[in-house]
Amino acid sequence: MARPAPGQRSERAMGRLLELGERVELVSMDPHFHDISISLYRNSGDGGASCFLAHSYSGKEGTAERLAFVMRAMAAMGGMVPAPGQPGRLAFACGAEHRAAVKRLFLEACKKATGAEVAALPMRIYDKKNDLTIDATATGGGGYRLAAAGGEADDKVARRVDGVTRGLIKLAEMEPGAAAGEARFACGTAHDELVGLLLGRALNVRAAMREAEAAAARGILAAPSAQQQT
Ligand SMILES: [Zn+2]
Repeated sequence: MARPAPGQRSERAMGRLLELGERVELVSMDPHFHDISISLYRNSGDGGASCFLAHSYSGKEGTAERLAFVMRAMAAMGGMVPAPGQPGRLAFACGAEHRAAVKRLFLEACKKATGAEVAALPMRIYDKKNDLTIDATATGGGGYRLAAAGGEADDKVARRVDGVTRGLIKLAEMEPGAAAGEARFACGTAHDELVGLLLGRALNVRAAMREAEAAAARGILAAPSAQQQT
C-alpha cells in the first residue's frame, strides 16, 4: 500500500482523528519517555470553547502517565483549566484558541521530565545584553504594559522595550495597545501565565520564529510515521 500523503488517511484512521480532533502540534520524539511521539489535538467544547488534549499512539507502558504529566504541566505553566463539557481536556478560561501560545506551551511542557516541578513563569525578563529588566503588568481587559528598569541610554531602553513588545505581540498573537510598550489579548482576558511563558522568547523573536518553522517542517515530515505507530 502506498504511503498516504499528509492529509490523506484511511477511513479507520479518519474515525480516530475525528474523535481526537484537529492536530495542532507534534513532538516527534519525547526525550523524556522512550522517544515516543506526542501530539496536541484541538476540538470544540461547550459554547465553542477550544479544548486541547495531548495524545500518543504509543503502546509503551507508562504512556498514559506521561501524557497526564504533560497535561498537568500545560495547566500549571499556561494557566489552563479543565475544558467545559470535555472531560480530560484543557482549555483557556476565555475559551479562545490562542493557537500560537498553546503550541509553544505544549512544546515547553514536553521538555519537562515527568515529575519535574512545573509552575508559571514570572512576567519579568532580564536582558543581559543591555543589562536591564523588563516587567509586564496587567492593565485589565486582557491588556499588558511592558516597562524596563536599568539600562543606560534612554532611547536604547525604549527601543528594547518596543522590540520585546512587538515580539510578544507576534508570539502570543496579541494586538498592539494604545501606547508603545502595550499589548492586549483580543479575548479581553488576562493570561499572565502566557505572557510569562512567551516574554523570554520575545527577547529573540527571530530565533523563536526559526524554531517554530523548523518544528512545523518536522511535523509535516513525521506525520505518516506518527500515524503508523500503535
Ligand atoms: Zn484568552
